[in-house]
Amino acid sequence: MPSAESNPVPPVAGRPSFRANDSAPSLDSVTTIRPDGSRPFLFPAATRGRLTTARRIVALVLLVFYMSLPWIPVNGHPAVLLDLVERRFHLFGLTFAAQDMWLLFFVLTGLGFSLIFVTALFGRIWCGWACPQTVFLEHVFRPIERLIEGDAFARRQLDEAPKSWRRFRIRALKHAAYVVVAAFFTHLYLAYFVSVPEVWHMVSNAPGEHWGVFVFMAAYTGLTYFIFAWFREQVCIVICPYGRIQSALTDDHTLVIGYDQRRGEPRGRAGTPGAGDCVACSRCVQVCPTGIDIRHGLQLECVGCTACIDACDDVMRRTGRAPGLIRYDSQRGLAKERTRWIRPRTIVYFILLLAGASVAGWAVSTIKPANFGVTRMTGAPYIIDAVSVRNQFLVRIVNKRHEPRRFRVAVERAPEGLVRSGVAEPVEVPALGEVVRPLILQQERARYAGVFFVLVTVADETGSFSLRREVEFLGPEARLLREEKEEARRAHR
Ligand code: SF4
Ligand code: SF4
Repeated sequence: MPSAESNPVPPVAGRPSFRANDSAPSLDSVTTIRPDGSRPFLFPAATRGRLTTARRIVALVLLVFYMSLPWIPVNGHPAVLLDLVERRFHLFGLTFAAQDMWLLFFVLTGLGFSLIFVTALFGRIWCGWACPQTVFLEHVFRPIERLIEGDAFARRQLDEAPKSWRRFRIRALKHAAYVVVAAFFTHLYLAYFVSVPEVWHMVSNAPGEHWGVFVFMAAYTGLTYFIFAWFREQVCIVICPYGRIQSALTDDHTLVIGYDQRRGEPRGRAGTPGAGDCVACSRCVQVCPTGIDIRHGLQLECVGCTACIDACDDVMRRTGRAPGLIRYDSQRGLAKERTRWIRPRTIVYFILLLAGASVAGWAVSTIKPANFGVTRMTGAPYIIDAVSVRNQFLVRIVNKRHEPRRFRVAVERAPEGLVRSGVAEPVEVPALGEVVRPLILQQERARYAGVFFVLVTVADETGSFSLRREVEFLGPEARLLREEKEEARRAHR
C-alpha cells in the first residue's frame, strides 16, 4: 500500500510547471534554487474556482483604487498628493506639513500592529489577497504572459524550444508589453508625487526639460519591469521581511492554507484500494506560483494565494469527492482538533493593536490647520544693557490651508513690565505658505528677578483654533544682578 514516504510527489504529469530537468519540490531545499545555485523559472498553471474569482475581484477593486487616487479631488487636491518639493502631504482632504511627520511613526506603528494581529489570526492573508506584489504579478503581468505565450505548458515549451524567429517574436512582444505596462504604472506612481496634470505636462515636454525626473522614471520603470518580468516570486521568498517573520507571528491555531493529510494519505490513483483522497495528480504543485508542494506541510514560501485550493477542489469534484482536501484551516483544524481564536498571543496582539490605533487616532486628531514654532535667534541667548534684559526669537507660522489666513500672536503669563515688540498683528500667511517674524521680549532690568517662562500663542483670526508654545526668558542670575546693585550702592556712598 502506498504511503506518504513510499509515494513521494510524482513527477508533474502532463503539463509541469518546472523544466523537464528540474526535480519535484522537496523540503530539503528552496524550490526555486537548484543544487548548483541556478534558478528554475516557474510556469505556474492558471486556476479557476470560487477563490480565484474572489481574489480577482479584490485585485480589481485594489487596482482601481490605486489608479483613481491621483484623479479624485478632495478639498481642491488629489485624494493623495505627496508634494515633496513643497513639503505638503495631502491625504483624503487632510494636509500635513513636514512638521507633522512625527505622526507617521504612530500611524505606521498602528498599521504594523494591525498586520501582526491579522497575521496571528489569518496567516498570510495579506500576501495572497492584497499585497501589491501579488496583485500586480498575478492580476496584471501574469495574464499578459498567458495572453501572449499561452498556458503553462505552452510557456514551458517555448522556453525550452531552440532559438527561432517565432520564439523571438513572441518573447519580444511580451517584454514590450511588460515595459509599456511598467511605464504606465510608474507614471501613475509619479502622479502621487506631482499630480496628474504635472505628469501630463512632463510627458508632453522633451526629457531635457526635466532630466532628473526622466532618469528616475526610466530607472523605476526598469526596476518594475525587472521585478515582474523576471524576479517575481523571489521578492516573496528572498527579500520580503514580512514573509521571514511569519513563523514568529503564527502558531498552530492560525488560519493557513493546508493539506488534510489524514484524509489525503496514502496517495493513490482513483480506485486504488486503501488509497486516501489525494489522487497524486500534482495539480496543486503545477499551479503554485512559488513552486512548493503544499502536501509537505506549511512552508515559508507559501504566500497564501489559494491557487492550490481551487486546483484541488476541481480535482475532487471531477473524481466525485468532497472538496476541501486542501483548504483554509489551522494546523489544529487539519489534525481534527479545536481551533482557538482567542489565545494569549492574539490577546496581546489585540491590546497592542488597540494601543497603536488609539495613539495613531490621537496623533491624527491633534493636527491643526496651521503649525508654528518659536526659536531663539542665533547669537547671544540674551542681551543686557543698563536698562533692560532682552530675548530675541523668531516665530515661524505655517498655513496648511488652501487659502490665505491671518493669525494673531500673543504672549501670555508675562511678568509685570515685560514689553514685547517685533511681530506685528495680525500676521497674514499665504495659502500653503509660511511666514517668519521676529519677536522681541524685553524686561526692565530693575524688575528682572531671574529666568522665567512665558507662553507664546498663535490664534487663527476667526478664533477657530489656537496653538501655544512655552519659551524660556533667559538672563543673568538674579543673585549676580543684586550683588552688582549692592556694589554700585557701596561705591556711590
Ligand atoms: S491537487 Fe489535490 S489530489 Fe491532486 S495532488 Fe494535489 S492534493 Fe492531491
Ligand atoms: S502552496 Fe498553495 S497557497 Fe501556498 S503559494 Fe502555493 S499555491 Fe499558493
